[in-house]
Amino acid sequence: MNFTHKKILIIDDSADSRTLTGHILRQEGYCNILEADSAQEAFDIIGLDKSFDEADLAPFLDLILLDIVMPEMDGIETCIKLKASPQTADVPIIMVTADTQDASLQRAFDRGAVDYVTKPINRVELCARVKSALLLKEEMDRRMELAKDLAKANKILQRTALTDGLTGIANRRYFDEFLDNEWRRCRREQLPVTLCLMDIDFFKAYNDAYGHLKGDECLKKVAAILAASVKRPGDLVARYGGEEFAIVLSETPEAGGCAVAKRVMKEVAARNIIHEQSTISDRITLSFGVAMLTPKAATPVNDLIAQADRALYEAKKMGRNRISCPGLKKI
Ligand SMILES: [Mg+2]
Repeated sequence: MNFTHKKILIIDDSADSRTLTGHILRQEGYCNILEADSAQEAFDIIGLDKSFDEADLAPFLDLILLDIVMPEMDGIETCIKLKASPQTADVPIIMVTADTQDASLQRAFDRGAVDYVTKPINRVELCARVKSALLLKEEMDRRMELAKDLAKANKILQRTALTDGLTGIANRRYFDEFLDNEWRRCRREQLPVTLCLMDIDFFKAYNDAYGHLKGDECLKKVAAILAASVKRPGDLVARYGGEEFAIVLSETPEAGGCAVAKRVMKEVAARNIIHEQSTISDRITLSFGVAMLTPKAATPVNDLIAQADRALYEAKKMGRNRISCPGLKKI
């Protein structure tokens, strides 16, 4: 593996030592070498202590050679600061020391230095340590990339597992999880949860008459209307079953649920989706059941679902294309 393009920063207060180290590395083929005579000059080169934009323009480093004994800020303090900065936290640091018995060397390792070379600089030792540090960095970068790819893949997988493939809104599994969480939260805080269940009227007849592709299109249109009908980020719109949808509205009374249902009803009507097989209209319509409960200690979440389901059944029995909300006298 060729590392000669890698960017190496030498931090050393001794001009002789810097020049010699740089010279050896250049002879070895490394062509990207920067030098700093103090911690402060190094921070300036790296862009530490600068605003984010300036820091973005700073050179990306692959390796730092850091002298331990320096006036003002010594190598140990410099190492600590470099490891604490997001710009350089992952850049390997090789300490340069005249005294391998130096207790401060242990501190440098404790703070994240990966290796050391001794002064006076020995060509073979320096080149071997530099190469192995760069190799290690390459391997770490590769693993980091892999981990990132894996995290991305996991996120997509997670989203897929919780999303309805056809309509893109939450699926039943996510609905169950979400409602369960909201139920428990609202029980703790004694807040109402409103559930709106809805059904596309005579959808089986629609599928039979126009085919499943048209049926899928219709489901997508209705889902998009539902998604647009809720305004708060905490509200959930989900596909509950085949042509059944659900909206969960936490901290909302029935009237709020009915208002959303009315909005959906109006919007679906405005879309004018022809349905000649419907016996109550020549367009696609929906029936709605709205229920609200403020969970008590022992109230199971199924009580809310059962109530909304009963209301939906009521809406259908009353002739469909309507909202049933037993908790409200007038809708
Ligand atoms: Mg020195």
